[in-house]
Amino acid sequence: MKRVVVIGGGFAGAYIAKKLENYFSVTLIDAKNYFEFTPSVLKVIVEPSHIKRIHALHSAYLNKAKILIGEVKQVTKKEVITKCKDRIMKIVFDYLVIASGTKYQYPFKEQNLILATRANSLKNCYANLFKSKKVLIIGGGVVGVELAAEIIGKYKDKDITIIESNKELIERTPKKAREYARQFLTNKGVKILFREKLVQIKKDIFITDKGVKIKPDISFLCTGITPNFKFMQKNFYSKLNKKNYLKVNDYLQLIGYKNIFAAGDIAGLNEEKLAQNAENHARIIVKNIVNLEKNKSLIHYKQKPRIMVISLGRYNGILNYKNFVFTGIFPGFLKHAIEWKTMIKYR
Ligand SMILES: Cc1cc2nc3c(=O)[nH]c(=O)nc-3n(C[C@H](O)[C@H](O)[C@H](O)COP(=O)(O)OP(=O)(O)OC[C@H]3O[C@@H](n4cnc5c(N)ncnc54)[C@H](O)[C@@H]3O)c2cc1C
Repeated sequence: MKRVVVIGGGFAGAYIAKKLENYFSVTLIDAKNYFEFTPSVLKVIVEPSHIKRIHALHSAYLNKAKILIGEVKQVTKKEVITKCKDRIMKIVFDYLVIASGTKYQYPFKEQNLILATRANSLKNCYANLFKSKKVLIIGGGVVGVELAAEIIGKYKDKDITIIESNKELIERTPKKAREYARQFLTNKGVKILFREKLVQIKKDIFITDKGVKIKPDISFLCTGITPNFKFMQKNFYSKLNKKNYLKVNDYLQLIGYKNIFAAGDIAGLNEEKLAQNAENHARIIVKNIVNLEKNKSLIHYKQKPRIMVISLGRYNGILNYKNFVFTGIFPGFLKHAIEWKTMIKYR
Protein backbone atom coordinates (compact mmCIF):
# COMPACT_ATOMS: atom_id res chain seq x y z
CA MET A 1 0.00 0.00 0.00
CA LYS A 2 1.25 3.48 -0.82
CA ARG A 3 2.04 5.72 2.16
CA VAL A 4 0.12 8.97 2.58
CA VAL A 5 1.30 11.31 5.32
CA VAL A 6 -0.99 14.15 6.38
CA ILE A 7 0.38 17.03 8.46
CA GLY A 8 -2.34 18.66 10.56
CA GLY A 9 -5.68 17.37 11.86
CA GLY A 10 -7.86 20.43 11.26
CA PHE A 11 -10.69 20.78 8.73
CA ALA A 12 -8.53 19.78 5.76
CA GLY A 13 -6.23 17.15 7.27
CA ALA A 14 -8.87 15.30 9.28
CA TYR A 15 -11.09 14.99 6.21
CA ILE A 16 -8.27 13.69 4.00
CA ALA A 17 -7.01 11.15 6.55
CA LYS A 18 -10.53 9.82 7.07
CA LYS A 19 -11.34 9.55 3.36
CA LEU A 20 -8.08 7.86 2.38
CA GLU A 21 -7.47 5.51 5.31
CA ASN A 22 -9.23 2.55 3.65
CA TYR A 23 -7.18 2.75 0.46
CA PHE A 24 -3.72 3.85 1.58
CA SER A 25 -1.42 3.46 4.54
CA VAL A 26 -2.26 6.82 6.11
CA THR A 27 -0.38 8.56 8.92
CA LEU A 28 -1.94 11.68 10.42
CA ILE A 29 0.56 13.85 12.28
CA ASP A 30 -0.91 16.52 14.52
CA ALA A 31 0.46 18.60 17.35
CA LYS A 32 -2.85 18.05 19.16
CA ASN A 33 -4.80 14.82 19.64
CA TYR A 34 -8.21 16.10 18.59
CA PHE A 35 -10.22 17.82 15.87
CA GLU A 36 -11.75 21.13 16.93
CA PHE A 37 -14.63 22.98 15.28
CA THR A 38 -12.85 26.33 15.56
CA PRO A 39 -15.79 28.61 14.58
CA SER A 40 -17.66 27.54 17.75
CA VAL A 41 -14.81 28.37 20.14
CA LEU A 42 -16.39 31.82 20.42
CA LYS A 43 -19.59 30.28 21.71
CA VAL A 44 -17.71 28.04 24.15
CA ILE A 45 -16.11 31.10 25.73
CA VAL A 46 -19.56 32.12 27.01
CA GLU A 47 -21.09 28.66 27.27
CA PRO A 48 -18.48 26.11 28.43
CA SER A 49 -20.98 23.23 28.47
CA HIS A 50 -20.77 23.39 24.67
CA ILE A 51 -17.11 22.24 24.71
CA LYS A 52 -17.90 18.57 24.24
CA ARG A 53 -19.85 19.34 21.07
CA ILE A 54 -16.89 20.90 19.25
CA HIS A 55 -14.15 18.36 19.88
CA ALA A 56 -13.49 14.86 18.63
CA LEU A 57 -10.37 12.84 19.37
CA HIS A 58 -8.59 11.79 16.19
CA SER A 59 -8.78 8.24 17.51
CA ALA A 60 -12.59 8.48 17.55
CA TYR A 61 -13.06 8.95 13.81
CA LEU A 62 -9.97 7.26 12.34
CA ASN A 63 -10.08 3.48 12.28
CA LYS A 64 -7.09 2.45 10.25
CA ALA A 65 -4.86 5.51 9.97
CA LYS A 66 -1.86 5.80 12.27
CA ILE A 67 -2.06 8.85 14.49
CA LEU A 68 1.15 10.51 15.54
CA ILE A 69 0.88 13.26 18.12
CA GLY A 70 3.90 15.48 17.72
CA GLU A 71 5.27 18.54 16.08
CA VAL A 72 6.63 18.38 12.55
CA LYS A 73 10.06 19.99 12.54
CA GLN A 74 11.17 19.49 8.96
CA VAL A 75 10.06 18.08 5.64
CA THR A 76 12.35 16.67 2.95
CA LYS A 77 11.40 15.34 -0.50
CA LYS A 78 10.91 11.88 0.98
CA GLU A 79 10.20 12.12 4.68
CA VAL A 80 8.62 14.11 7.48
CA ILE A 81 10.74 14.68 10.58
CA THR A 82 8.62 14.90 13.69
CA LYS A 83 9.29 15.39 17.38
CA CYS A 84 7.03 13.08 19.38
CA LYS A 85 7.57 13.62 23.10
CA ASP A 86 11.37 13.41 23.26
CA ARG A 87 11.85 11.23 20.19
CA ILE A 88 12.66 12.36 16.68
CA MET A 89 10.84 10.23 14.11
CA LYS A 90 11.28 10.11 10.34
CA ILE A 91 8.16 9.14 8.45
CA VAL A 92 8.64 8.23 4.81
CA PHE A 93 5.86 9.10 2.34
CA ASP A 94 4.74 8.41 -1.21
CA TYR A 95 2.23 11.24 -0.95
CA LEU A 96 2.36 14.14 1.47
CA VAL A 97 -0.49 16.52 2.31
CA ILE A 98 0.43 19.66 4.23
CA ALA A 99 -2.60 20.94 6.12
CA SER A 100 -0.88 22.72 8.98
CA GLY A 101 -3.25 25.69 8.94
CA THR A 102 -2.69 28.95 10.74
CA LYS A 103 -2.11 30.29 14.23
CA TYR A 104 -4.56 32.58 15.97
CA GLN A 105 -4.25 34.22 19.36
CA TYR A 106 -5.31 32.53 22.59
CA PRO A 107 -8.02 31.40 23.31
CA PHE A 108 -9.23 30.99 19.73
CA LYS A 109 -6.55 28.48 18.75
CA GLU A 110 -3.87 26.81 20.86
CA GLN A 111 -1.04 24.55 19.85
CA ASN A 112 0.58 21.37 21.17
CA LEU A 113 -2.22 20.46 23.55
CA ILE A 114 -4.10 17.34 24.47
CA LEU A 115 -7.87 17.58 24.62
CA ALA A 116 -8.19 17.74 28.43
CA THR A 117 -5.76 20.67 28.62
CA ARG A 118 -7.56 22.53 25.85
CA ALA A 119 -10.92 22.02 27.57
CA ASN A 120 -9.48 23.37 30.84
CA SER A 121 -7.97 26.32 29.09
CA LEU A 122 -11.33 27.25 27.52
CA LYS A 123 -13.05 26.83 30.90
CA ASN A 124 -10.48 29.19 32.47
CA CYS A 125 -11.18 31.74 29.78
CA TYR A 126 -14.90 31.46 30.52
CA ALA A 127 -14.24 31.94 34.26
CA ASN A 128 -12.07 35.01 33.65
CA LEU A 129 -14.66 36.54 31.36
CA PHE A 130 -17.45 35.76 33.82
CA LYS A 131 -15.82 37.82 36.56
CA SER A 132 -14.76 40.67 34.27
CA LYS A 133 -16.79 43.82 33.80
CA LYS A 134 -14.76 45.73 31.23
CA VAL A 135 -14.03 43.76 28.06
CA LEU A 136 -11.72 45.01 25.33
CA ILE A 137 -11.73 43.45 21.86
CA ILE A 138 -8.94 44.49 19.55
CA GLY A 139 -10.03 44.00 15.94
CA GLY A 140 -13.48 44.32 14.41
CA GLY A 141 -13.22 41.58 11.78
CA VAL A 142 -15.44 38.52 11.78
CA VAL A 143 -13.89 37.04 14.94
CA GLY A 144 -14.08 40.30 16.94
CA VAL A 145 -17.68 40.94 15.88
CA GLU A 146 -18.84 37.38 16.60
CA LEU A 147 -17.11 37.44 19.98
CA ALA A 148 -18.69 40.76 21.00
CA ALA A 149 -22.12 39.44 19.96
CA GLU A 150 -21.65 36.22 21.94
CA ILE A 151 -20.65 38.14 25.06
CA ILE A 152 -23.42 40.73 24.82
CA GLY A 153 -25.97 37.98 24.10
CA LYS A 154 -25.02 36.13 27.25
CA TYR A 155 -24.25 38.93 29.73
CA LYS A 156 -26.13 42.16 30.21
CA ASP A 157 -23.58 43.70 32.60
CA LYS A 158 -20.44 43.74 30.44
CA ASP A 159 -18.96 46.96 29.22
CA ILE A 160 -17.53 46.04 25.80
CA THR A 161 -15.24 48.17 23.64
CA ILE A 162 -13.97 47.22 20.18
CA ILE A 163 -10.93 48.96 18.72
CA GLU A 164 -10.98 48.80 14.91
CA SER A 165 -8.36 50.45 12.71
CA ASN A 166 -10.67 50.69 9.70
CA LYS A 167 -13.71 52.88 9.38
CA GLU A 168 -16.07 49.89 9.48
CA LEU A 169 -16.50 46.46 11.04
CA ILE A 170 -16.14 43.26 8.93
CA GLU A 171 -14.81 45.44 6.14
CA ARG A 172 -14.55 42.73 3.47
CA THR A 173 -18.33 42.19 3.47
CA PRO A 174 -20.96 44.27 1.56
CA LYS A 175 -22.22 47.55 3.02
CA LYS A 176 -25.50 46.05 4.24
CA ALA A 177 -23.67 43.42 6.28
CA ARG A 178 -21.24 45.96 7.74
CA GLU A 179 -24.06 48.26 8.78
CA TYR A 180 -26.13 45.45 10.24
CA ALA A 181 -23.21 44.29 12.40
CA ARG A 182 -22.46 47.83 13.59
CA GLN A 183 -26.08 48.57 14.43
CA PHE A 184 -26.61 45.23 16.11
CA LEU A 185 -23.66 45.79 18.43
CA THR A 186 -24.10 49.50 19.13
CA ASN A 187 -27.83 49.02 19.86
CA LYS A 188 -26.76 46.61 22.58
CA GLY A 189 -24.32 49.09 24.04
CA VAL A 190 -21.02 47.96 22.53
CA LYS A 191 -18.63 50.89 22.07
CA ILE A 192 -16.64 50.90 18.85
CA LEU A 193 -13.56 53.04 18.33
CA PHE A 194 -13.17 53.27 14.56
CA ARG A 195 -9.93 54.33 12.82
CA GLU A 196 -7.92 53.70 15.97
CA LYS A 197 -5.01 51.39 16.47
CA LEU A 198 -3.66 49.85 19.61
CA VAL A 199 -0.08 51.07 19.88
CA GLN A 200 0.98 50.30 23.43
CA ILE A 201 0.10 48.27 26.51
CA LYS A 202 1.52 49.77 29.69
CA LYS A 203 0.76 48.18 33.07
CA ASP A 204 -2.59 46.76 31.91
CA ILE A 205 -3.52 50.05 30.22
CA PHE A 206 -4.19 49.81 26.49
CA ILE A 207 -3.29 52.98 24.59
CA THR A 208 -4.46 53.78 21.05
CA ASP A 209 -2.72 55.94 18.44
CA LYS A 210 -5.23 58.69 19.27
CA GLY A 211 -4.20 58.64 22.91
CA VAL A 212 -7.31 56.87 24.24
CA LYS A 213 -6.48 54.83 27.35
CA ILE A 214 -8.50 51.78 28.37
CA LYS A 215 -7.96 49.56 31.40
CA PRO A 216 -9.99 46.42 30.73
CA ASP A 217 -10.48 43.50 33.08
CA ILE A 218 -10.05 41.16 30.14
CA SER A 219 -8.88 41.64 26.55
CA PHE A 220 -9.07 39.60 23.35
CA LEU A 221 -6.75 40.11 20.42
CA CYS A 222 -8.74 39.38 17.26
CA THR A 223 -6.29 40.59 14.68
CA GLY A 224 -5.65 37.91 12.14
CA ILE A 225 -3.75 34.79 11.38
CA THR A 226 -0.20 33.62 10.64
CA PRO A 227 0.66 30.44 8.74
CA ASN A 228 2.27 27.34 10.33
CA PHE A 229 5.11 27.07 7.83
CA LYS A 230 8.40 26.79 9.80
CA PHE A 231 9.03 23.13 8.99
CA MET A 232 9.10 23.99 5.26
CA GLN A 233 11.66 26.75 5.57
CA LYS A 234 14.84 24.69 5.30
CA ASN A 235 14.16 22.53 2.24
CA PHE A 236 11.28 24.30 0.50
CA TYR A 237 12.08 27.95 1.03
CA SER A 238 11.36 28.82 -2.61
CA LYS A 239 7.88 27.29 -2.30
CA LEU A 240 6.80 29.86 0.28
CA ASN A 241 5.17 33.05 -0.94
CA LYS A 242 5.88 36.48 0.56
CA LYS A 243 3.48 35.86 3.44
CA ASN A 244 4.86 32.35 4.07
CA TYR A 245 1.93 30.44 2.62
CA LEU A 246 2.67 27.50 0.28
CA LYS A 247 2.66 28.10 -3.45
CA VAL A 248 0.31 25.64 -5.14
CA ASN A 249 -0.87 24.95 -8.70
CA ASP A 250 -4.48 24.49 -9.85
CA TYR A 251 -4.49 20.87 -8.61
CA LEU A 252 -3.34 22.01 -5.16
CA GLN A 253 0.07 20.39 -5.65
CA LEU A 254 3.05 22.19 -4.20
CA ILE A 255 4.60 23.93 -7.21
CA GLY A 256 7.09 21.54 -8.84
CA TYR A 257 5.96 18.41 -6.92
CA LYS A 258 3.48 15.82 -8.15
CA ASN A 259 3.17 13.99 -4.84
CA ILE A 260 3.06 16.89 -2.34
CA PHE A 261 -0.20 18.78 -1.82
CA ALA A 262 -1.22 21.71 0.38
CA ALA A 263 -4.75 22.11 1.75
CA GLY A 264 -6.64 24.57 3.90
CA ASP A 265 -5.38 27.83 5.35
CA ILE A 266 -1.72 27.06 4.57
CA ALA A 267 -2.37 26.95 0.79
CA GLY A 268 -1.33 30.25 -0.77
CA LEU A 269 -4.59 30.93 -2.58
CA ASN A 270 -6.17 34.31 -2.99
CA GLU A 271 -9.39 33.57 -1.11
CA GLU A 272 -10.83 33.88 2.40
CA LYS A 273 -9.26 31.50 4.89
CA LEU A 274 -12.39 29.54 5.74
CA ALA A 275 -13.16 26.10 7.08
CA GLN A 276 -15.41 25.44 4.11
CA ASN A 277 -12.59 26.30 1.69
CA ALA A 278 -10.30 23.95 3.64
CA GLU A 279 -12.84 21.14 3.20
CA ASN A 280 -13.19 21.91 -0.50
CA HIS A 281 -9.42 21.70 -0.96
CA ALA A 282 -9.48 18.41 0.93
CA ARG A 283 -12.12 16.94 -1.41
CA ILE A 284 -10.06 17.86 -4.49
CA ILE A 285 -6.83 16.47 -3.00
CA VAL A 286 -8.49 13.14 -2.10
CA LYS A 287 -9.67 12.81 -5.71
CA ASN A 288 -6.32 13.86 -7.12
CA ILE A 289 -4.32 11.36 -5.05
CA VAL A 290 -6.69 8.58 -6.14
CA ASN A 291 -6.51 9.79 -9.75
CA LEU A 292 -2.71 9.83 -9.70
CA GLU A 293 -2.77 6.20 -8.60
CA LYS A 294 -5.18 5.33 -11.42
CA ASN A 295 -3.26 7.37 -14.00
CA LYS A 296 -6.34 9.53 -14.56
CA SER A 297 -6.31 13.28 -15.15
CA LEU A 298 -6.29 15.55 -12.16
CA ILE A 299 -9.12 17.85 -11.10
CA HIS A 300 -8.76 21.62 -10.93
CA TYR A 301 -9.58 23.49 -7.76
CA LYS A 302 -11.82 26.40 -8.72
CA GLN A 303 -11.71 29.41 -6.44
CA LYS A 304 -15.14 30.94 -6.18
CA PRO A 305 -17.08 33.13 -3.80
CA ARG A 306 -18.58 31.11 -0.98
CA ILE A 307 -21.53 31.67 1.29
CA MET A 308 -20.25 33.22 4.49
CA VAL A 309 -22.22 33.00 7.71
CA ILE A 310 -21.41 35.39 10.54
CA SER A 311 -23.22 34.62 13.76
CA LEU A 312 -24.35 37.36 16.11
CA GLY A 313 -24.99 35.38 19.25
CA ARG A 314 -27.46 32.58 19.43
CA TYR A 315 -30.42 33.98 17.56
CA ASN A 316 -29.04 36.35 14.96
CA GLY A 317 -26.58 36.43 12.13
CA ILE A 318 -25.58 37.58 8.66
CA LEU A 319 -25.47 35.43 5.56
CA ASN A 320 -23.42 36.85 2.72
CA TYR A 321 -22.98 35.49 -0.79
CA LYS A 322 -21.28 37.82 -3.29
CA ASN A 323 -23.35 41.00 -2.89
CA PHE A 324 -26.39 39.26 -1.45
CA VAL A 325 -26.90 39.79 2.28
CA PHE A 326 -29.54 38.09 4.38
CA THR A 327 -29.82 38.87 8.09
CA GLY A 328 -31.74 37.69 11.14
CA ILE A 329 -32.52 34.46 12.89
CA PHE A 330 -31.96 32.06 9.96
CA PRO A 331 -28.21 32.75 9.51
CA GLY A 332 -27.86 32.48 13.30
CA PHE A 333 -29.33 28.96 13.26
CA LEU A 334 -27.43 28.02 10.12
CA LYS A 335 -24.15 28.32 11.98
CA HIS A 336 -25.33 25.76 14.55
CA ALA A 337 -26.50 23.47 11.76
CA ILE A 338 -23.07 23.66 10.10
CA GLU A 339 -21.40 22.75 13.41
CA TRP A 340 -23.75 19.80 13.88
CA LYS A 341 -23.26 18.57 10.29
CA THR A 342 -19.47 18.79 10.59
CA MET A 343 -19.21 17.16 13.97
CA ILE A 344 -21.32 14.09 13.11
CA LYS A 345 -18.63 13.22 10.56
CA TYR A 346 -16.08 13.01 13.37
CA ARG A 347 -18.05 11.01 15.90
C1 LIG B 1 -12.18 32.15 16.07
C2 LIG B 1 -12.32 31.67 14.64
C3 LIG B 1 -13.57 31.63 14.05
C4 LIG B 1 -13.70 31.15 12.75
N1 LIG B 1 -14.96 31.10 12.19
C5 LIG B 1 -15.11 30.57 10.96
C6 LIG B 1 -16.41 30.42 10.38
O1 LIG B 1 -17.42 30.82 10.97
N2 LIG B 1 -16.52 29.84 9.16
C7 LIG B 1 -15.43 29.39 8.47
O2 LIG B 1 -15.60 28.85 7.35
N3 LIG B 1 -14.18 29.54 8.97
C8 LIG B 1 -13.99 30.10 10.19
N4 LIG B 1 -12.73 30.24 10.72
C9 LIG B 1 -11.58 29.81 9.92
C10 LIG B 1 -11.36 28.30 10.03
O3 LIG B 1 -11.30 27.90 11.39
C11 LIG B 1 -10.07 27.92 9.31
O4 LIG B 1 -10.17 28.34 7.97
C12 LIG B 1 -9.85 26.40 9.37
O5 LIG B 1 -9.62 26.01 10.70
C13 LIG B 1 -8.67 25.99 8.50
O6 LIG B 1 -8.54 24.61 8.57
P1 LIG B 1 -7.12 23.93 8.29
O7 LIG B 1 -7.37 22.47 8.27
O8 LIG B 1 -6.47 24.54 7.12
O9 LIG B 1 -6.19 24.33 9.52
P2 LIG B 1 -6.37 24.33 11.08
O10 LIG B 1 -7.78 24.18 11.47
O11 LIG B 1 -5.60 25.51 11.54
O12 LIG B 1 -5.62 23.00 11.54
C14 LIG B 1 -4.24 22.87 11.40
C15 LIG B 1 -3.75 21.68 12.19
O13 LIG B 1 -2.36 21.54 11.95
C16 LIG B 1 -1.70 21.26 13.16
N5 LIG B 1 -0.30 21.71 13.04
C17 LIG B 1 0.15 22.94 12.75
N6 LIG B 1 1.50 22.96 12.72
C18 LIG B 1 1.89 21.70 12.99
C19 LIG B 1 3.17 21.07 13.10
N7 LIG B 1 4.32 21.72 12.91
N8 LIG B 1 3.21 19.75 13.42
C20 LIG B 1 2.06 19.04 13.60
N9 LIG B 1 0.84 19.58 13.50
C21 LIG B 1 0.75 20.89 13.19
C22 LIG B 1 -2.49 22.02 14.21
O14 LIG B 1 -2.33 21.41 15.48
C23 LIG B 1 -3.92 21.85 13.69
O15 LIG B 1 -4.52 20.69 14.20
C24 LIG B 1 -12.56 30.73 12.02
C25 LIG B 1 -11.29 30.81 12.61
C26 LIG B 1 -11.16 31.29 13.92
C27 LIG B 1 -9.79 31.35 14.55
